[in-house]
Amino acid sequence: MSAMVAKPLLGCIADDFTGATDLANNLVRSGMRTVQTIGIPEDESAAIDADAIVVALKSRTIAPADAVAQSLDALRWLRAQGVQQVYFKYCSTFDSTPEGNIGPVTDALLDALSDLPNGEFTIACPAFPENQRTIFNGHLFVGEQLLSDSGMRNHPLTPMTDANLVRVLQLQTKHKVGLVTYDVVAQGARAIRERFAALKAEGVRIAVVDAVSNEDLIQIGAAVQDMPLVTAGSGLAIGLPQNWQFNEPGAAAARADRLPPAAGLRAIVSGSCSQATNVQVLHFMRSGRASFAVDPLAIAAGDDVVGEALAWAGEHVLDGPVLVYATAEWASVKDVQAQLGVARAGELVEEALSSIALGLVERGVRQLVVAGGETSGAVVRELNVRQMGIGPQIDPGVPWTAVHSPACAGETLHMALKSGNFGTTDFFTKAFDQLAA
Ligand code: ADP
Repeated sequence: MSAMVAKPLLGCIADDFTGATDLANNLVRSGMRTVQTIGIPEDESAAIDADAIVVALKSRTIAPADAVAQSLDALRWLRAQGVQQVYFKYCSTFDSTPEGNIGPVTDALLDALSDLPNGEFTIACPAFPENQRTIFNGHLFVGEQLLSDSGMRNHPLTPMTDANLVRVLQLQTKHKVGLVTYDVVAQGARAIRERFAALKAEGVRIAVVDAVSNEDLIQIGAAVQDMPLVTAGSGLAIGLPQNWQFNEPGAAAARADRLPPAAGLRAIVSGSCSQATNVQVLHFMRSGRASFAVDPLAIAAGDDVVGEALAWAGEHVLDGPVLVYATAEWASVKDVQAQLGVARAGELVEEALSSIALGLVERGVRQLVVAGGETSGAVVRELNVRQMGIGPQIDPGVPWTAVHSPACAGETLHMALKSGNFGTTDFFTKAFDQLAA
């Protein structure tokens, strides 16, 4: 006889892998036991024992029709699991193009849920104040800058040149977009709900909601309690668990982020070239620890870079964490891209780093930090990870997770997936210290 498994309450659809762990991390910190799946599980009928499920997709920059199809598949599976509310999670910098995919996916989810009470209306709220993403009068700020003045204006795939989220979203959706301004949010959940009703009466189906602090997210969270669908960055996760009484101080949170004890060898694989990662790599090397640089031009020339990296790691990994990195400054990346092409450079490096990650795990690494969003996606795939248990937070947006991979012989692998710009300077040493504590 199998034990009764309570149905999950919240079902999330995330448009990328590091974004998914970021969201799961915020849910866990609020006391919800959370499981992250990579896509929909192969065994669709198996019940998941968790309070929240996060389905990680890689749908941010694919064709809108594919993003819609994958998201609807995830929705169907989550509803079969019995979830009460669905959370479409995108980046806190609202990464999208005029074609999508935030608008088209939101439209499709709204349409699919429109038979439920309140199913015809949702919010859009990428705010994550702890990571300096705030919304005021519908405009998204990154730190003190408007989104359109931040580095996001030069993003290679999703350049964000307009900070006005109502305008940006209206270009991507067939539905009318409205705004709940800060003066209303500051009055609390009841005032926000009244504003939702007024917007609905005007024919609005998606409301951008201002938020500049965690307290705002808590009020918004209470206001969306009866909405079958919410769309947001990871920040809103701070405001939802209270609706199921998960925010009892202490006890619940202590339960939700428990992972099996960590063992085995330790390594970092870094393919992120973001500013924060460059500083973290430098800090790790300066602290006297062993590191190995992967040269993209050597890979392109046919050298056995993976073999060399693994032979090197074999000598050093018994003495403590080792770092294998392709991380480089922008000038060097641009030079490599000029020689190999942007896409090929990225692919070659991702392929090499994911093979190295697999080789490290086969050689006994059981605590692995991966830096870079695309890099993390490649490593998770190479290790054939299907599900991630979410543990304690290392830094905002980055938790430790526990996974299984065919490469680790039945043992638990602890993994942390760090999105490029997240984490403090000492992230690579701090992460392992935390696991040992
Ligand atoms: P981030 O989260 O910082 O954006 P990603 O892993 O998502 O990091 O993206 C970094 C991309 O740059 C990957 O495709 C990676 O393979 C590629 N890359 C890493 N190092 C180099 C390098 N030295 N030269 C060119 N491309 C690189």
